[in-house]
Amino acid sequence: MKKTIRDYDLNNKKVIIRVDFNVPIKDGIITDDNRIKESLKTIKYAIDNNAKVILMSHLGRIKEESDKEKNSLDIVAKRLSELLNQDVVFINETRGKKLESAINNLKPKEVLLMENTRFEDLDGNKESGNDKELGKYWASLGDLFINDAFGTCHRSHASNVGIASNIENGIGFLVEKEINNLGVLNNPERPFTVILGGAKVSDKIKVIENLVNKADYILIGGGMAYTFLSASGLPIGKSLLDSENIEFAKTMLDKYPDKIILPIDSVNGKDISHGTEVSECFVSDMKDDMIGLDIGHTTIKLFKQYLSDSKTIIWNGPVGYTEIEEFSNGTKSICEILKNLDAIKIVGGGDTAAAIINLGYKDYMTHVSTGGGASLEFLEGKTLPGIEIISDK
Ligand code: ADP
Ligand code: MG
Repeated sequence: MKKTIRDYDLNNKKVIIRVDFNVPIKDGIITDDNRIKESLKTIKYAIDNNAKVILMSHLGRIKEESDKEKNSLDIVAKRLSELLNQDVVFINETRGKKLESAINNLKPKEVLLMENTRFEDLDGNKESGNDKELGKYWASLGDLFINDAFGTCHRSHASNVGIASNIENGIGFLVEKEINNLGVLNNPERPFTVILGGAKVSDKIKVIENLVNKADYILIGGGMAYTFLSASGLPIGKSLLDSENIEFAKTMLDKYPDKIILPIDSVNGKDISHGTEVSECFVSDMKDDMIGLDIGHTTIKLFKQYLSDSKTIIWNGPVGYTEIEEFSNGTKSICEILKNLDAIKIVGGGDTAAAIINLGYKDYMTHVSTGGGASLEFLEGKTLPGIEIISDK
C-alpha cells in the first residue's frame, strides 16, 4: 500500500501537488474542465488541513519557444480560482527568485500554481527527461510531495519521479481511486470478462497477454477483431488487418479457444466515411470490397450473454469506429447492456473513455479512468514509475 495525503500532517507545510491540468484549450478557452474538477478533492483536502498549496502540472507539448504562449497555465489558474472560490496565485515561471519568494510568502490555505512544467523541456528536455537537478530543485521548494496526476504516472518525469525521489511523498485521492479501481483485475469477482476493441492488435498485445491469464472471457471487437477472424481462416474484405500479428492471434485462439470470443457478424462500410453504403453480414460472408467497422446485432446478443453473468467487467477499446455515427451502434449497445448490470464495470483507455463520456454513459460505470496511456499500461500489468516511486506505508 502506498502512502497517501492522509498519512501526513499538512498543517503549515508547503505541500507540492502534481496535478493533471492538461486540459483541451481552443482559441484561448478551456473546452473541457473535467480534469481541473477531478483534482479538487485533493486540493481542497490540503486547504482544509492548513497546507500551503503549491500546484504543478504540464499542459500540451513544448517543442519550441512559440509553443509557450498557447500552453500557459494562466487560464487554468483563473478557472481553478473560480472552482475553488478563492484566489490562486499564478507564477509564470518554473524556477527562480520570483517563484521562490512567492512560495515563501504563502500562508496556510493559500494556493499557488506555477507555470507549465514542460516549459523546462525547451532546455534539453529537463522535465520529460527527468533531469536530476530539476527534480531536486523542485523538491527543495516544498516539504511534502503528493502525486495526483494519474495521466502521467506511466512516465518518469522530473515533476513526478524526480521530486518524489527527493522528499517525503504520497499519492492524492485521484491516483488512489485509479489504483483501487483498476486494481480489481488482480483479484476480480468472477466471472471476470474483458471487452477489448480499438484499432490494431499490435496496440493491445500486452493487454491480451496480461489479461488472458486473469479473465474468464475476452470479448474481442473493433478493428483488431478482423485480424483474429482472418487468423481463424475467415474472409475479412478490406477490414483492418495487422498482418504481422496473425501468428500471435492464431496462437491465442489455439491456446484459449473457449476464452476468446470473436464477433459472428459485422457492420461494414464501402468507405470509412459518413454517408457511405452500409451493410451487415455474418463474418463468413464478408465480400472483398467491404470494410468491417462495427460488431453486428447477433454479436451484440452474444456479448450480452457473457456480460449478463459477469461480476467484473473491464473495457478497453471501442468495439466499432465510433467517430462515424453509422458505426457506433456496437459501442452504444455495449454501454446500454452495461448500464443495467449489477457488476463492477471499469473503463480504461483514452478513446474508450472519451466515447463513453460522449455517449452519456459515464455515470453508469463504476469507474472511467482519467489516464489514457497510464490506464492502458496498468492493464498491461506494468508498474507505473510515478506510483512505484511513492513510499509504501
Ligand atoms: P483506447 O484509446 O481506449 O485504448 P484505441 O486507441 O485502441 O482505444 O481504439 C480507438 C480507435 O479504434 C478509434 O480511433 C476507432 O476508430 C478505432 N476502431 C474501432 N473499430 C475499428 C474498426 N473496425 N476498424 C478500424 N478502426 C477501428
Ligand atoms: Mg487510443
